[in-house]
Amino acid sequence: MRKPVIAGNWKMFKTIGESVEFVKDLRARFAKVDHCEVVVAPPFTALRPVAEALRGSNIAVAAQDCHWDKEGAHTGDISCDMLYDAGCTHVIIGHSERRHDHGETDEQVNKKLKAALAEELMPIVCVGETLEEREAGETEKVLERQFHGGFQSLTAQEISRIVIAYEPVWAIGTGRTATPEMAAESHRPLRAMVGAQFGSQTAEQLRILYGGSVKPDNIAGLMAQEELDGALVGGASLKADSFAAIVNYPLA
Ligand code: PEP
Repeated sequence: MRKPVIAGNWKMFKTIGESVEFVKDLRARFAKVDHCEVVVAPPFTALRPVAEALRGSNIAVAAQDCHWDKEGAHTGDISCDMLYDAGCTHVIIGHSERRHDHGETDEQVNKKLKAALAEELMPIVCVGETLEEREAGETEKVLERQFHGGFQSLTAQEISRIVIAYEPVWAIGTGRTATPEMAAESHRPLRAMVGAQFGSQTAEQLRILYGGSVKPDNIAGLMAQEELDGALVGGASLKADSFAAIVNYPLA
């Protein structure tokens, strides 16, 4: 059985004060949640105070990016060592906004992934095609390229400590969601790639989340797909009511 993960990616929203207020509210709301793992990914500035406010709770803290080096002359970057020190247990890697805004490559994703694993952080690795790529019928080819580039030279044991998020770029922040069937159609080849390289048991245990305009009114339909093991939620994770409705999808 794969335990679902519902992760909220706050992107560049919320001050430290807003973040702490927000997670105190979530902590109370989710005290009894056990059907899924809940993760929040605040901006770097709020990581430490959020981790402190959530200490001893069932909500984990993720960073939205990391650098692969432990330390060094990399202005503006943050290492996995520093993220661990700030209280993170997870880190989002290869989000399409990082790939697009910062030219992040699959090779860099691979280096970040290895650095996160070395620091015992659980990577949530994002893959997904653009609208042009989907319309050109290249979705699977893109996923293959991102998988083989991003996941190269990992072991099956390492893969078992990773979560993949399938996030079609055309669905992120656009209000356009992939249908549950479309999402499952992309999850299947991803799981097959993992199976081919790391064995069927590893593939069966791997959690693949869907991300792209997940909202309270579409989460139940998405989660009804056996292939979907949770969601990476952007916009709808910024308000307690909508995030709680998504986390509590079995009660809908
Ligand atoms: C995301 O930030 O990963 C995301 C999926 O955003 P949204 O839910 O707003 O589309």
